[in-house]
Amino acid sequence: MKATHASARQLGLVSCSDCHLLSRMKKTLAHEAAYCSRCGGELQQRKPNSIMRTWALVIAAMVFYIPANLLPMTITSALGSVSADTIMSGVIYFIHSGSWEIALVIFTASVFVPFLKFTILIYLLLSVQFKSIKRPKDRTRFYRFTEAVGRWSMLDIYVVTILVALVKLGFLADIEAGPAAIYFAAVVVTTMIAAESFDPRLIWDVVEDKS
Ligand SMILES: [Zn+2]
Repeated sequence: MKATHASARQLGLVSCSDCHLLSRMKKTLAHEAAYCSRCGGELQQRKPNSIMRTWALVIAAMVFYIPANLLPMTITSALGSVSADTIMSGVIYFIHSGSWEIALVIFTASVFVPFLKFTILIYLLLSVQFKSIKRPKDRTRFYRFTEAVGRWSMLDIYVVTILVALVKLGFLADIEAGPAAIYFAAVVVTTMIAAESFDPRLIWDVVEDKS
């Protein structure tokens, strides 16, 4: 593939990650940092240690994903009886009670979307590490998707808790978040930081180097 445009890096330009001012990268010594002339933020052509950092965060998020699914998400007590529900037991409950739409929303938000985000991030990491030049545009789109989804992920936890409370027990019950809620929040936050740590420009650097 032939690159038709010069990249900012080839022209010695760098965009400030805080205020997005485009600056010319002055020739500094290796140990010297360059700073943005407008906001004073440190200028970096690529996010430092992007690959290693993203790997570490994705693996951490996958570890949190296990207790998030195995431990109870909600603990409800009504009329003296206490019941604990994991995400999946909640999903199964809604399927059995005929509310398959609610089951679908919980399953998608809490099980499928986090899984999809891990898969995309691992695919992006491997594709950069193995210097793939295939479908860079599609990979950039995948990256945008994980970034966009991240902003809404925290809603999942409320969806689960509120739906279980309202539909299963009406307003008569006492409902508490179970230990899985903390792990689930950790999955969401860690995945968001992982997506943020990945530098999608690395996808294009490989394409550029090979052209
Ligand atoms: Zn700046």
